[in-house]
Amino acid sequence: MFRSISIALSVVSLFAEKSVFDPSIANKPELKKAFATVDARKAAIQKEWITLTEIPSPSKQEKLRIAYMKTAMARVGLTGIEEDAIGNVWGTYKGSGGGPVVAFAAHTDTVFAMDTPIKVTEVNGRLHAPGIGDDTGSLAALLNAFEIMRDSGIKTKGDVIFVATVQEEIGLLGAKYWLEHREKKPDMFVAVDSRMGSVGYGALLIEQYKFIFEGPTMHTLASKGKANAARGAARAILAIGEMKMPEVMDGGSANLPVANVGTLGGGTVVNATPGKVFITVDIRSQDIKSEQKLVEDVKSIAQRAANQEKLQLVIEPVNVVHDYSKALPKEVRMNSTLVQTALAVTDHLKLNGERKAVAFDSGSDDHNIGVAMGIPSIGIGAILGGGAHSLEESADLASIIPGTKYMILMASTLAGVQ
Ligand SMILES: [Zn+2]
Repeated sequence: MFRSISIALSVVSLFAEKSVFDPSIANKPELKKAFATVDARKAAIQKEWITLTEIPSPSKQEKLRIAYMKTAMARVGLTGIEEDAIGNVWGTYKGSGGGPVVAFAAHTDTVFAMDTPIKVTEVNGRLHAPGIGDDTGSLAALLNAFEIMRDSGIKTKGDVIFVATVQEEIGLLGAKYWLEHREKKPDMFVAVDSRMGSVGYGALLIEQYKFIFEGPTMHTLASKGKANAARGAARAILAIGEMKMPEVMDGGSANLPVANVGTLGGGTVVNATPGKVFITVDIRSQDIKSEQKLVEDVKSIAQRAANQEKLQLVIEPVNVVHDYSKALPKEVRMNSTLVQTALAVTDHLKLNGERKAVAFDSGSDDHNIGVAMGIPSIGIGAILGGGAHSLEESADLASIIPGTKYMILMASTLAGVQ
């Protein structure tokens, strides 16, 4: 027992990297000035958050918000502003040299259709509007953080890139495109898209499949004792629901791994057997092994159901499946400088009150792409929101103030200051 513990410890220490956060950085005059400026500009920061939220921006139709971001990036002093073919826009807070290149990403797209009415209302310190939290607050916090860093004279060593991504909600496609097209990858990738105070260093693995059960189409009068595609789908649905799941893993609040039947359909008329019946299954896990096992299990359940009912089975992937074979081992990711620094900065700013920050091997936002590519990557947050992806979405109006300070301290610490 003791022996196994000491081995485990030495394995961890082999990977352990230290936080690069030095609390004395907060006493530098530029940093002090920056924090005071965040407080002084509170109303303007909150106003920009609201303005951005009211610009509709469904995935693949982010043009209006991207145009806003492009102009705003120039306003806040970022240089080398560029837009790529998929629609991402980015600019750089130029460093003096000698530090790492750190990329901060926030996504411009929302899950709400173009004609969804969006008008931000405030009730008792909470903002209400579709998309207020996910991920508009991060865009506003980052813009203002860079503007205030410039205005306060903060000189970083490394370059800090701010990329406003597109198509996050439909498979992290903007971030994937952007990172794949970087000739020189950033040394660190920080996605700002979760709850402020949480630090995620993992990637939620997501695979989604459509299972189509195919059988004969026969008039009801001829259907007795014959194969029926609906019965095959029904068998599969029940068996997936009764699957024995591996133990709950370290996924923060999520109950993982999981396989969920999300949509089903088929048949065309009431008085015949349905020729085709489909179900879709969303399979999610924290680690490659259990994800693969789950995918295999779901596929064999569907095949068995088809065989039992003498049906044909067609399997189609529904969504983009990312390849995580290059991801660094969990211990390396967990003990990275990036994660340890984020935890130290989170605790310094008391973003979780007196509770110490912990990092989770989880995340389902743009940083997953960095994780998949083996780049040190995390998911953090700049605001406190709730009800994401629902019309009742809301967020804490005051939270963007410590959130903006958090962005300033993270950017300054990770890129290094003179
Ligand atoms: Zn998001």
